[in-house]
Amino acid sequence: MKALVKEKAGPGLTLAEVPQPEMGHNDVLIRIRKTAICGTDIHIWKWDEWAAKTVPIGMHVGHEYVGEIVAMGEEVRGFQLGDRVSGEGHVTCGHCRNCRAGRRHLCRNTVGVGVNRPGAFAEFLSLPAVNAFKIPDNIADDLAAIFDPYGNATHTALSFNLVGEDVLITGAGPIGIMAVAIARHVGARHVVITDVNDYRLDLASKMGASRVVNVARERLTHVMSELGMVEGFDVGLEMSGVPSAFTQMLEVMNHGGKVALLGIPPAETAIDWNQVIFKGLEIKGIYGREMFETWYKMVAMLQSGLDLNPILTHRYPLNAYVEGFETMLSGQSGKVILEWP
Ligand code: NAD
Ligand code: ZN
Repeated sequence: MKALVKEKAGPGLTLAEVPQPEMGHNDVLIRIRKTAICGTDIHIWKWDEWAAKTVPIGMHVGHEYVGEIVAMGEEVRGFQLGDRVSGEGHVTCGHCRNCRAGRRHLCRNTVGVGVNRPGAFAEFLSLPAVNAFKIPDNIADDLAAIFDPYGNATHTALSFNLVGEDVLITGAGPIGIMAVAIARHVGARHVVITDVNDYRLDLASKMGASRVVNVARERLTHVMSELGMVEGFDVGLEMSGVPSAFTQMLEVMNHGGKVALLGIPPAETAIDWNQVIFKGLEIKGIYGREMFETWYKMVAMLQSGLDLNPILTHRYPLNAYVEGFETMLSGQSGKVILEWP
């Protein structure tokens, strides 16, 4: 089958022939229809330090997708051939304490599809059936293909009650932008988002931000007074991974504020701990999606009117995948979809 493979230690991916994946008795085989390019795939494309120490050469990558079940192991229950599915990219061990308690998102032995095991940029993906998630008919393929990052946005945004709250999101990448739409959908008051990229801030505006702030030009505190905010933000969602964005967030949180951290900063980033202690902030780290509570919420929000379509800005056929990656690298895009023949 065809797949996008990291053939050598360096930038890029190659469209190559690889063996069709093997399937165990608890697995489903998914024929891939559409995939989306994740920030993680960009790290792998660029072959940065993290990618070089994490991804084995010869691996085909990718973990945002929708497809159709074309074969099933004999122990699989609850699915049928032809079911349209996306899937949870974190494959968990099933025997650690958290897995056994039903908190699979906290499994200490998590393995990542398209990172530590063969991925979805391929004609076929083999996946434990327990990780597959059926997509209702009224949700389009393109949206189903981005359930993984939509799930990151959902898990983070729904970590705290947003009803009537003033929410600050730092980082208008695809995930931050989706978080804007979710915060709006569930009833936040002001939803303010920061970035240094105007293309993406415009997109965030279209998705319902009360105010977008280019922190290279504008001061967040000025925007707060313009909005009549006197005390500070109630909830912060850090979605940039940029240390200065997190520092800035801590400065404008209200006392008793709640902060969820999704963005991945350099390992030993320093902050002013006095902001955390004397303000009594609550800080929560977010990894992946809750299995599978996040997935049910994602479906429910789309079915109750959440519109994520503006985030889908580019679509390419597989043979134009280089263009797809270049578009994503340019920063002038929302989500980029690759269509499999
Ligand atoms: P992205 O890289 O597309 O978005 C990050 C955004 O932050 C960019 O638009 C960038 O311009 C912006 N930015 C740069 N400097 C800034 C500043 N000073 N203030 C505010 N914004 C600034 O990433 P994404 O795919 O949307 O993901 C968001 C973050 O979440 C990344 O750090 C990613 O690594 C991380 N992530 C974490 C998990 C997890 O499970 N914890 C999962 C997926 C992604
Ligand atoms: Zn486990």
